[in-house]
Amino acid sequence: MPPLGLYVHVPFCAAICDYCNFTRGLLDAGLKRRYVEAVRREVGGAGTGRAADTIYFGGGTPSVLEPGEVAAVIDACRRAFAVDAAAEITLEANPESVTVERLAAYRDAGVNRLSFGVQSFRDEELRRLGRVHDAARARGAVAEARRAGFDNVSLDLMLWLPGQSVPDLDDSLEALVGLEPEHASLYLLEIYAGSPLDAAVARAGWSRVPEDGAADMYIHAMERLEAAGYRQYEISNVARPGRESRHNAKYWMDGEWLGFGPAAHSTLGGVRWNNVPATAEYVRRVEAGESAVGSRRALSPRERLEEALFMELRLADGIRLERIRRTYGVDVWKEWGSKLARFEDAGLLEHDDTRLRLTRPGMLLANDVMITFLEAGSTVK
Ligand code: SF4
Repeated sequence: MPPLGLYVHVPFCAAICDYCNFTRGLLDAGLKRRYVEAVRREVGGAGTGRAADTIYFGGGTPSVLEPGEVAAVIDACRRAFAVDAAAEITLEANPESVTVERLAAYRDAGVNRLSFGVQSFRDEELRRLGRVHDAARARGAVAEARRAGFDNVSLDLMLWLPGQSVPDLDDSLEALVGLEPEHASLYLLEIYAGSPLDAAVARAGWSRVPEDGAADMYIHAMERLEAAGYRQYEISNVARPGRESRHNAKYWMDGEWLGFGPAAHSTLGGVRWNNVPATAEYVRRVEAGESAVGSRRALSPRERLEEALFMELRLADGIRLERIRRTYGVDVWKEWGSKLARFEDAGLLEHDDTRLRLTRPGMLLANDVMITFLEAGSTVK
C-alpha cells in the first residue's frame, strides 16, 4: 500500500484577511491549547501503524502554533503511524508570525518545508487584501527561513488583484524570483460576494482587468517563472526539479490521506469523510470521546473515476491513460474522445497513447473540460 499523507488543519489566524473564505477564526489562546490536545488525541485514535510519508500543517495560520505544539502533533503522528524518516513535513506560515528563532525551533520540531503566504510584494496590494505583513517582512521571513536552515521553501502569490496591472504583477514576480524559493503557488484571486474585500472594491472603485486580461496575467506569470528555471507541474504550482509538493501529489494522483482538526477531510479505501467545521464543537467532541466526523460516505466507482480524472487533469503531465485503464477499466479516449475533440481542436487539450493533458491556455478552462467527464456516459456506475 502506498504511504498515506497526514493533514492537520490549524483553524486560527492572528487577523482575518478581507478576501478569506477558509475555515478559520481569530486566535483564542485557551481554545488553541485544547485544540492541540484534541488533535493529538484524534491522531492517536486513528493510528493504523500504516506508513505515512508526508505531514502537512495547513490553515488558517499554522505558524500561530508554538514550535512545542507543532512538535507535540508530529510526535503523535510518529507514534500512530510509521512516518518515514525522510517524510516531507510542511508548515504554512504567515510572514508576520515568524522570527529566525521561531523558525529554527520549527525545524528542530521536525518541519522541513515552509510555505509562506506572501500573496504580493507590493505594500499597496497587501493593504487592499487586508494582510498584516508588508513586502519587507515577506523578504525578511524568507531570509530568516534560510538562516534557520530551511532548503525547501514555497511562496504563495495572488494574481488578478483589484487595481493590479501587468507591470505591478511583474514587481511581485521579480521579487519572488530574486528570493529563489524552491516552489511557488500562483492563484487568481476570487472575490466572494459579501466579503469585506468585495465591499471595499465597490467603495473605492478599484477596477480589475477583465477575465481575458486575467488569463494573460496567468500565462505571463507562468512564462516568467519558467524562464527563471521553474517547471509548472500543476495548474497553480511551479517548482524547481524534484521540489514538487509531495503531500499535494496525494490529492492530485489518486492517493490516500487522513485529515485531522476541524473541517479536515480524509479519503481512505474509497470512503470520504469530513470533520465538523466549528473548532469549539470539534474540541468538545474529541474531549468527550465522541467522533469528530461530521459526514461520511463511500464513493461509488463512478465517483472515484471522476475524481481521479478531475484531479490528474490538473497536472501538467496530465491523466495517465494506462493507469486509468488498469485501475478503473475505462479507456478514457474511447469513452469521451468525441466530446473532448473540440478542446483538442481549440488547442486547449492534447493527447497521445499514454497521456491526456491540458495545454497552458487549456488550464484556465479546466472546469469546462472536467464537466465533459460528467456529461458523457461511461459504463462505470
Ligand atoms: S491568513 Fe489565510 S486563512 Fe487566515 S484569514 Fe488570511 S487568508 Fe484566511
